[in-house]
Amino acid sequence: MLIVMKPRCTPDEVEQVTERVRSLGLTPHPIPGAQRVAIGITGNKGPLEPELFTTLPGVADALRVSQPFKLVSREVKEEDTVIDVGGVKVGGDHVVVMAGPCSVESREQILEAAHAVRAAGATLLRGGAYKPRTSPYEFQGLREEGLKLLALAREQTGLKVVTEVKDTETLPLVAEYADVLQVGARNMQNFSLLEKLGRTDKPVLLKRGLSATLKELLMAAEYIVASGNHRVMLCERGIRTFETMTRNTVDINAVPVLKTLSHLPVVLDPSHGVGIRKHVPAIARAGVAAGADALVIEVHPCPEKALSDGQQSLTCGEFEGLMRQVEQIARAVGKPLSTLAGTARPQAKRR
Ligand code: PEP
Ligand code: MN
Repeated sequence: MLIVMKPRCTPDEVEQVTERVRSLGLTPHPIPGAQRVAIGITGNKGPLEPELFTTLPGVADALRVSQPFKLVSREVKEEDTVIDVGGVKVGGDHVVVMAGPCSVESREQILEAAHAVRAAGATLLRGGAYKPRTSPYEFQGLREEGLKLLALAREQTGLKVVTEVKDTETLPLVAEYADVLQVGARNMQNFSLLEKLGRTDKPVLLKRGLSATLKELLMAAEYIVASGNHRVMLCERGIRTFETMTRNTVDINAVPVLKTLSHLPVVLDPSHGVGIRKHVPAIARAGVAAGADALVIEVHPCPEKALSDGQQSLTCGEFEGLMRQVEQIARAVGKPLSTLAGTARPQAKRR
């Protein structure tokens, strides 16, 4: 249920509502950033009677939320959630591009990638230090050393860092370095990790599971929000289908459908989505045209030498070319590319 307060309600009246919710053994969740003061209620087994709340002073309405995902649904918050990552706003009126290598491999590699994506206009840097690999014999990431290198790249470029957190043990360490904590597709339903992320103050980039439905993705986001962290981005990264010509099948439907069902920002990952370098630009363009709030793109200074996902990583030059295309599409759909606060986007070099 969602309690909507009257426009000029007092803090005391809000407190009375949350007290009533608690006295019923339920959990109140103040909805942040909403134009109206609203309190979501979770924990009820069946429908609640609106009169339990509408009789309290300051209450305008008590509405039933029909979706199983409550706090992340548009029903509880009409306007888009905008997540501020050190001045870069994801979910607002600009398209954000996050870019960088799949894995942090060395000081030279991450710095070269970071400077290149920064120069081409990306506003967040991605790079994995803890890598969830299908095979235990594949490169698992540089771990803490990788986090330190990401911090160095941030210092040099001003780009905030998106990096994956693989488990609850390493969460405190990763959270010390990351500006955005990525939950990988393989961990989308790691509920203890989701709950712990709900208790951190860092934004979360939640990737859709390999075979997860949109409802399952939204329920996973609900775990994080219900645990107290409202700053979640939903990421479509391709799902498993019968198709074998591509690594995954990008569910482009996910972009408008998630935007309709939820107020959270929607991110598209064309790199894992298609898995083939030469097709990444087309899918990136499609994502922006479909209304994605952000893209996350793998870029490597030398993809053929990459320790992970080289086959889908763009070279720095290819990324620069893609940014020029994406910029036009973003403008055409009325959501221009975001730029780093206080700096004009450097003109991409012609080649
Ligand atoms: C990644 O971003 O490099 C990654 C491992 O992605 P996913 O979890 O979507 O496979
Ligand atoms: Mn990858």
